[in-house]
Amino acid sequence: MQIKKNISLKSYNTFGIEAKAQLLVNIESEEQLKEAYQSPKLMALPKLVLGGGSNILFTKNQRKAILKINIRGIDVLDQKDHEVRVKVGAGEIWHQFVLWCLDHNLGGVENLSLIPGTVGAAPVQNIGAYGVELKDVFDSLEAYEIKSGKIKLFNKEQCQFDYRNSFFKGRGKDQFVITSVTFKLSTQPRFDVSYGGIQRWLDEKGLELNIHNISESVIHIRQTKLPDPVKIGNAGSFFKNPIIEKPLHEALKLIYEDLPHYPLDSGSIKIPAAWLIEQCGWKGRRMDQIGVHERQPLVLVNYGGGKGLEILKLSEQIQISIQNKFGIELKTEVNIF
Ligand code: FAD
Ligand code: NAP
Repeated sequence: MQIKKNISLKSYNTFGIEAKAQLLVNIESEEQLKEAYQSPKLMALPKLVLGGGSNILFTKNQRKAILKINIRGIDVLDQKDHEVRVKVGAGEIWHQFVLWCLDHNLGGVENLSLIPGTVGAAPVQNIGAYGVELKDVFDSLEAYEIKSGKIKLFNKEQCQFDYRNSFFKGRGKDQFVITSVTFKLSTQPRFDVSYGGIQRWLDEKGLELNIHNISESVIHIRQTKLPDPVKIGNAGSFFKNPIIEKPLHEALKLIYEDLPHYPLDSGSIKIPAAWLIEQCGWKGRRMDQIGVHERQPLVLVNYGGGKGLEILKLSEQIQISIQNKFGIELKTEVNIF
């Protein structure tokens, strides 16, 4: 087990926030994970499980042992008719796994191209983009239970997947470390181009509908719209899109005729948080080294040298203004430490 002391976390979070960790432990296998929780040297310290750090905001130095999950491996388990089950180590890079699927002509994750981070973190918030969520291709996962020191198998129901949420972000928080995820992929996938931009891009380029072209389209749209964390620190959408009930929606429509909205199967209505934030005048606003991105106001950015607490404060100001103007509570998507 490789242990580093008093280390800067700046290169371990895509916000690029400077914070110190008391210890950082690289975890390459399930055995090392068990060792980290059971060794007397580390037992006394609280732990923080880290993947790619792309959904995290550090607001202080971490008097903890950071467990950086690097468990690797992509293994085909079996194939039944058109369905192929693939088991993937939690430390694999999500987009590398998507590329592996494309190389093997396996469909299901193409709409989730270019999402940063690791495979092990993907179920934590049930990652989603362009009409597809992790739960749509999920078979099962294995996780280390901290209390018992045993590996447990979770099926889809037990993971309680929801909109950018799961058991691991809710009731199971801080109790499990995901070590592998098994996916159900397809050799004859159904395509989802419900997000207009994908089909438009394919039409413009004269490209046929297949997993390779969908992935290319998603990559193109994302690169055009979102800041690259290598160039400008960010953690993607800072807030979740709020889901409101019909009476509030009816009341808001009377005032804001152009209010964008997406009805859900549950009868509730999803409102794009980006629109709400823009209406409150935050889009493109900059305060010294931090700000709200100029093209995508759901993304808060660190231009370099910004502090985690400053970003947190900005996020709270945005939440208050949305609450005051629309009576809507914006919930944070990013994990604050
Ligand atoms: P981290 O940030 O390291 O960790 C996130 C949380 O998961 C933490 O609470 C951590 O403790 C926990 N965790 C990490 N690994 C494990 C594990 N093995 N077991 C248990 N808990 C663990 N998200 C989307 O859903 N859709 C998008 O389209 C999207 N686009 C993004 C675009 C950009 C530019 C950026 C920067 C982020 C985007 N995100 C998106 C958010 C982020 O990429 C995802 O949430 C991703 O799954 C986080 O992975 P990570 O490995 O970086 O997790
Ligand atoms: P967009 O396409 O401009 O759409 C704006 C919002 O409207 C999105 O948040 C999306 O909700 C919703 N939406 C658009 N078309 C929809 C449809 N046909 N049905 C239902 N809802 C629809 O969004 P964007 O900002 O460019 O992002 C594109 C996709 O990438 C989105 O799915 C977004 O969630 C994802 N993304 C996520 C992050 C993150 O960090 N979580 C960062 C960047 C992009 P949903 O968000 O619910 O899909």
